[in-house]
Amino acid sequence: MRSSAIALVLLSWPCGLLAQGGPSPGPSEMSLQVDLREAPRRIFHSRMRIAARPGQFALRYPKWIPGEHGPNGPIGDVAGLVFTASGKRLSWHRDSDDMFRILVDVPQGANEIEAQLDFISPPPETRGFSGGASASAHVAVLSWNQVLLQPEEAAPARMRVSASLRLPARWKFGTPLRSQGGGDLISFAPVSLEELVDSPVLAGEFLHEIPIGPPGGAPHFVELAGESEDLLHVEPQLKSQWDALVAQAQLLFGAHHYRSYRFLLTLSDDLAHFGLEHHESSDDRVPERVLLDPDLRLSRLAGLLPHEFTHSWNGKYRRPQGLATGDYQKPMRGDLLWVYEGLTNYLGNVLAARSGLFTPDQSRGAFAFSADMMWAHRGRQWRPLADTAVAAQVLYGARDDWDAWRRDVDFYLEGDLLWLEADTMIREATTVPRSPSSTNRSRRRASSSTSRPRRESSRPTRSAC
Ligand SMILES: [Zn+2]
Repeated sequence: MRSSAIALVLLSWPCGLLAQGGPSPGPSEMSLQVDLREAPRRIFHSRMRIAARPGQFALRYPKWIPGEHGPNGPIGDVAGLVFTASGKRLSWHRDSDDMFRILVDVPQGANEIEAQLDFISPPPETRGFSGGASASAHVAVLSWNQVLLQPEEAAPARMRVSASLRLPARWKFGTPLRSQGGGDLISFAPVSLEELVDSPVLAGEFLHEIPIGPPGGAPHFVELAGESEDLLHVEPQLKSQWDALVAQAQLLFGAHHYRSYRFLLTLSDDLAHFGLEHHESSDDRVPERVLLDPDLRLSRLAGLLPHEFTHSWNGKYRRPQGLATGDYQKPMRGDLLWVYEGLTNYLGNVLAARSGLFTPDQSRGAFAFSADMMWAHRGRQWRPLADTAVAAQVLYGARDDWDAWRRDVDFYLEGDLLWLEADTMIREATTVPRSPSSTNRSRRRASSSTSRPRRESSRPTRSAC
């Protein structure tokens, strides 16, 4: 049973993409309309039009989300699933062997179906990435994988999606997606499903867009949203450090592959806290008083943006082959996470120091902390670092108790030390100053510009070092 309020919302979509007389989506097209007007109640509404064929038609809910390194698609928080064709309700069932696979009975003569679902954003204490707490009374982060189903045979890179969004009154938004039109319905330029899932939306009642970085070149922004206006004051020193972060990243990598870049920075105690990387943005969620409390700012924010920014090069533009599956259903292999996360952690610390977000002492302290933690993790006696990478999909959700013996996702902190040593060896063994970042530059220049991930095996990384 649905509340009358929700039914009213679902009936109030404008004519257009979902109108019965509108053009049918092509075989590799779908439309997706998301309504966040009830996000303050922690429920997101979604409707889709999908090309289909008569018979049993298979749809899938995204399971392996890029950057999350595990089968974390929040299928357990999907509700209100309804399918129709020409206004008639269709029967469906779930594949008993695959909780993410939905089979819809499409009648003869139908060449498209409409699907609707709700995503229930978990309560504030819920940890996780896109499956974690994502909405509060004043702010919400929409990860498109939360609210969609895709035809089973559709490759995300080839599926075109026309997406639109409704927000609560007076809410603003930030996203790397190009928006069209105006008014209370935001329409986005059609993109591939792969790009859509890689392009979250930060929306909120209190949201500031802060341009950062040197003038000229690709634009960079911090999209800053929080639970109140009082929490969003950015001191000039921090703004200048963010400017320096952009400049230093350009010096470090020598080129960039994105059209623009946005840090989607959420300050809230009601949302899960983490950073999640994307090509042209990052989803960065921190405690709400982080700009008011210097200790909190140092421990939870200073290193986060350099890390996630680095991922746009190492992890998004370049990605280990086991993590670039091109599909949200195929299991990812994490064996090269010591490169994906380890090198990113190292270069992120370098960028934090060079941009002034860390003082030199704080930067050395970060490496000392990594060394101390790895010394204390006696699980290194039985579990090699490589196994923490292979087992990342279970270690991210592991409890904190006994983690020194079990080991944690140690490829972050041990990666700091590993890549510090690699950097030192390269500098000592070459007459021309080189480092892992200069090998990144040479590899970047040799390739064409594209936002699609390049798959990397371990061999070129080892030979580059
Ligand atoms: Zn990372």
